[in-house]
Amino acid sequence: MHPRLQTQLDLVTARNPGEPEFLQAVQELMLSLSPIAGRRPDYAQWSVLKRMCEPERQIIFRVPWVDDAGEVQINRGFRVEFSSVLGPYKGGLRFHPSVNISIVKFLGFEQVFKNALTGLPIGGGKGGSDFDPKGRSDGEVMRFCQSFMTELHRHIGEYTDVPAGDIGVGARELGYLFGQYKRITNRYESGVLTGKGLSWGGSRVRTEATGYGTVYFAQEMLATRGDSFDGKRVVISGSGNVATYAAQKAEQLGATVVAVSDSGGYVVDESGIDVALLQEIKEQRRERLTEYVSAKGASAHHVADGSIWDVPCDIALPCATQNELTGRDAKTLVEHGVGLVAEGANMPCTTDAVEVLRDAGVLYAPGKASNAGGVATSALEMQQNASRESWGFEETEDRLREIMSSIHEQCVATADEYGDPGNYVMGANLSGYLRVADAMVALGVV
Ligand code: GLU
Repeated sequence: MHPRLQTQLDLVTARNPGEPEFLQAVQELMLSLSPIAGRRPDYAQWSVLKRMCEPERQIIFRVPWVDDAGEVQINRGFRVEFSSVLGPYKGGLRFHPSVNISIVKFLGFEQVFKNALTGLPIGGGKGGSDFDPKGRSDGEVMRFCQSFMTELHRHIGEYTDVPAGDIGVGARELGYLFGQYKRITNRYESGVLTGKGLSWGGSRVRTEATGYGTVYFAQEMLATRGDSFDGKRVVISGSGNVATYAAQKAEQLGATVVAVSDSGGYVVDESGIDVALLQEIKEQRRERLTEYVSAKGASAHHVADGSIWDVPCDIALPCATQNELTGRDAKTLVEHGVGLVAEGANMPCTTDAVEVLRDAGVLYAPGKASNAGGVATSALEMQQNASRESWGFEETEDRLREIMSSIHEQCVATADEYGDPGNYVMGANLSGYLRVADAMVALGVV
């Protein structure tokens, strides 16, 4: 690492003790920036680097609510408004017991560069709570969301900060959040949240966008080697929104998705995962994956412990959560002959895993490039809200496909220009960073 970048990393480390995920994300970026320090010293100045690693604003608040038993519950709410040089802060809300300031800052940091890569006018931010919607009744989820928004509403707005969903925050939660925002402000401000339902200001393809976008990105990567999804064995971790639609698109392109997972284990189905059944179990019935096996029968079996990455495949799409694919998993994948790993989740591969994959010559895409389709379609939703339009499915999907292809092109071109062809990590980090740095310098010290 260039000494100036190392010094910056040391400063960030000293300043943010106890935040391993955030520091992992910063280090991963710094490792890619060395070519800039040599060739664009104006963008590797302290004034830029220092501001890049410090969020513009961090909000932490108490979320009190009453559960079904009449007990007062207290959760912690977060919104980290990381950077607004390219547009209003934009990024999801995550409701999961693991949420803390380190996780929200790492996600916000990644979001800044991901959003820059889309080429759309959106800054970066992230938020959420350590609230666990799992096992809670609809009424409890609603009361929690209303309390969360009672504080959050004063910090967000169409031109200020535009939250969306993430793990644990889907159409149901966004509905309750939007309803409370509307009630408190007395404004039907559609552009304040994205991921909305179609009947109340949402965009077509937003639900499918992250999963579809990941597969489109992987398709472009395969094409650089004259290859495609057709006939491939695919393993996808997770069984939420990203994993489900990644599976659907991969199957549409002729692949067989042989495994998916949830926090209770994974399911292997050699005849190909039945996506409609998966959706019914996960989205409608909100049940465990073991139900998939009971419904599907002989072709499927459930594995309660162990790693989904032990299942041999040609293409691996980690779509669950951060640091879910370790160095050991990467070695197993390589031994089984994996050709491509594209991240649908945020930072699912550990630093070790990325090194193993890259050393073995596996095509590897970091989430900030390959999972940018979700937030890109959120920006399209904002565009439709601002113009009071509603585009058709095909039109919106075409735009998503074009955006993914342009992100791919930028990654490839930047990696070529900076002397490391095929390095998508460097390509994504450098092109995102340059776009943010450019605007940051232009806006002065603010
Ligand atoms: N949570 C998604 C992400 O990680 C989407 C954010 C958004 O649509 O604003 O990019």
